[in-house]
Amino acid sequence: MSVVVNKAEAGKMTVAKFGGTSVADYQAMLRCAQIIKNDTTNRVVVVSASAGVTNNLVRLSQENVSDAERSQLIADIARIQFAITEHLSCQQTLDIEINHILTTLTQCATQQSLNYTLQQSDEILGFGEQFSSRIFAQVLQSVGVNGQYFDVRQIMKTDSLFGKAQVELNELATLAKSLLTPLLDEQVIVTQGFIGSDAQGNTTTLGRGGSDYSAALLAEAIEANNLSIWTDVVGIFTTDPRITDQARSINEISFGEAAEMATFGAKILHPATLIPAMRQDIPVFVGSSKEPDAGGTRIQRQVDSNPTYRSIALRREQTLVTVKSPQMLHASGFLAKVFTVLAKHQLSVDLITTSEISVALTFDNPHGSTQALLTKAVVEELEQLCEVSVEHGLSLIAVIGNKIHGTKGVGSSIFDKVNDFNIRMICHGASNHNLCFLVPEADANQVVERLHDTLFTH
Ligand code: ASP
Ligand code: MG
Repeated sequence: MSVVVNKAEAGKMTVAKFGGTSVADYQAMLRCAQIIKNDTTNRVVVVSASAGVTNNLVRLSQENVSDAERSQLIADIARIQFAITEHLSCQQTLDIEINHILTTLTQCATQQSLNYTLQQSDEILGFGEQFSSRIFAQVLQSVGVNGQYFDVRQIMKTDSLFGKAQVELNELATLAKSLLTPLLDEQVIVTQGFIGSDAQGNTTTLGRGGSDYSAALLAEAIEANNLSIWTDVVGIFTTDPRITDQARSINEISFGEAAEMATFGAKILHPATLIPAMRQDIPVFVGSSKEPDAGGTRIQRQVDSNPTYRSIALRREQTLVTVKSPQMLHASGFLAKVFTVLAKHQLSVDLITTSEISVALTFDNPHGSTQALLTKAVVEELEQLCEVSVEHGLSLIAVIGNKIHGTKGVGSSIFDKVNDFNIRMICHGASNHNLCFLVPEADANQVVERLHDTLFTH
């Protein structure tokens, strides 16, 4: 089939991001290719690694991987990728490229087992997106779209904080304008989420699930008018549909509410995704690549309705740290010292409550994270300042909506219905858009179900 040069519609550009399940196999990739073909405003495609690949790479990037396990993990990755390429007419040339990358991956992984480094860890994690982006560019070609592979590391410049690198925004903006934008008139660029490169050219990663954030940064850098995040669910739901079948997709939601949801939420979007979108006022669409016509959620500055209750988010595996110091009584500067320690270790705090002599803080403990967050070193350093207790096994529930702190009866609407549970760390008042609290992990589903029933179904 000849490749159509589908020109960009004047002045309109969409960055489309496909998550791991959307590029998991050939059929899934083909559906995504049709989505791109059907809307010529799609100019930049950002892909995650095919589902399962990053998890294997995470294992390969660790210490103590035996030769047998390493071979197995790499063979699994190869199987996933070759099962896609076998459907393509360019299979032969593409497989040469894939094999070449597999060889480099094998070398890196073997080296890692001999001499572990964080830098090498990121190098290894970055292979998944390199496979999927090369393959997806060819799938686009196979449906007649001029899809071209682009190595995002040329422009996604970061610091050298391997595992959670920070992007140098000015550099990205300048490099994107000179290296990426000129290509977009006649090509649909297919590039990698999740990875970047530091000043020395080493591969870095932006943290698990970071492809959404990459896509938003690219949308900002090329001044796109739209960002589409294609995933395996029809948008953002009022709560996790696995918890209650009453959950339903939300048509539209404001940036403010969605940012709270992403931070406290069911991990549909990487929490940082909306920051670039908000900065540049780019509407974000979240939809399912399996059912592109089934609608989805539009996230934008202005929305038609602003209900008090929009959704309930649940985040599991929270760590609660309570620091206590009798010296804090009538003293100043204690909180500053605690936060200096946390900042030094790059830990970000989610919720805080304080009493006169103690402070409780929560930290997220993301599943699949490549790094221990609250390390022994941090706890020991805090112990120099105060008594420290650490608790696990808690879930954070956030009720998200509008004017939450200025609406009468919010407290009783929420807490009356769940007064038979042990609720802790209620945070109400700092945000217009949310009220949140902790419950024991074992009660979390029940609390969400009951609140959803009260706040949304009646
Ligand atoms: N592939 C990476 C991950 O699984 C990044 C992403 O998919 O967003 O975390
Ligand atoms: Mg994701």
